[in-house]
Amino acid sequence: MAGQVFAYITHKAGKADDSAQELLVAAAKIFPDAEPTAIVAGAGSELDAVCGEVAAWYKEIWKFDNEALAYPNAEAIRKLLVNVLPGDAVVLIPHDTFGMDLGPGLSIKMDSVFVSDVAGIDGLEGDTLKITRQEYSGQVSTHLSCDISSGAVLNLRPGVFQAEESGAGTGGQVVDKSAEIGDLTVGRRFLEVVEAEIGDVDITKEDILVSVGRGIEDEDNIEIADELAEAMGAVVSCSRPIVDAKWLEKSRQVGTSGQTVKPKVYMALGISGSFQHMGGLKGNPFIVAINKNPKAPIFQVADVGVVEDLLDFVPALTEKIQESK
Ligand SMILES: Cc1cc2nc3c(=O)[nH]c(=O)nc-3n(C[C@H](O)[C@H](O)[C@H](O)COP(=O)(O)OP(=O)(O)OC[C@H]3O[C@@H](n4cnc5c(N)ncnc54)[C@H](O)[C@@H]3O)c2cc1C
Repeated sequence: MAGQVFAYITHKAGKADDSAQELLVAAAKIFPDAEPTAIVAGAGSELDAVCGEVAAWYKEIWKFDNEALAYPNAEAIRKLLVNVLPGDAVVLIPHDTFGMDLGPGLSIKMDSVFVSDVAGIDGLEGDTLKITRQEYSGQVSTHLSCDISSGAVLNLRPGVFQAEESGAGTGGQVVDKSAEIGDLTVGRRFLEVVEAEIGDVDITKEDILVSVGRGIEDEDNIEIADELAEAMGAVVSCSRPIVDAKWLEKSRQVGTSGQTVKPKVYMALGISGSFQHMGGLKGNPFIVAINKNPKAPIFQVADVGVVEDLLDFVPALTEKIQESK
């Protein structure tokens, strides 16, 4: 019999990450009748704000308030979770940069199953959890069976377990567990946060983004995206390979090592949908993905998917938009 389910809530500046609700959706896919417990760790008044927000979705929230947790240091959080969780806990963590740091080591310390970048949960039969992952940029789906009777750490791909499915909460109970934190002495020390540079255009403030990925194929083709963006009243952003190739400024990069954006509409042109890219896309925008590979992971999270060569499709779309004006 698998243990209690816990959701690790990441947060910044007193706001819970979008993944907070996604973990709840994923938990319901594993145990339809279970009530997962939210773990909120941090320090000071920002922590109370996060607990208050999360209480709208989770029935029980465990709050851990300690100066050593003021910055999300995965080494300290790992120690905390080992100290406070039951050995057979099923722990859900978002598969972002922090989650990749936290999850694998946590599963070793808890001596439990670990699965990274979970893209689908196919159900629980007895103690066997069926999970889907993707390999080779979505070309191959891998189906896994895991015995979770001794616990599990599951890193869940952001954006896949859509938050609307969780429904409205009724107001959960915040339980202050700070007294149980235990020893948090770690070797890693927080130094500073370096915010990404804001360039000529601030993509974090835009409502509509036309984002180009490696599928644009050539620097000269970025003009196609510029024209679409102009027709839509949008701004051009991009994935990291475009910045690495020096075709666009770093300030236009969406993702975990770029900007976090919250547009209403996100046009993804030739972007595969890596978790590092999608990790920078927040606020549940309306996503239109144009990609010639029908198995590209971005189609899992897109509201509209177009399987076409973008070099043909995007100029035709721009023309139609211009005609309709
Ligand atoms: C520590 C770390 C941090 C990272 N941070 C970021 C980050 O902040 N942001 C980021 O974006 N990435 C980041 N990455 C890189 C990330 O892992 C991916 O490699 C990257 O997001 C892939 O970019 P892409 O989707 O443009 O390219 P690809 O994965 O190569 O995808 C290109 C897509 O275009 C499609 N395509 C090709 N030609 C066409 C065509 N003619 N028409 C239509 N579709 C076409 C293909 O089918 C494919 O799906 C990071 C990686 C690491 C290790």
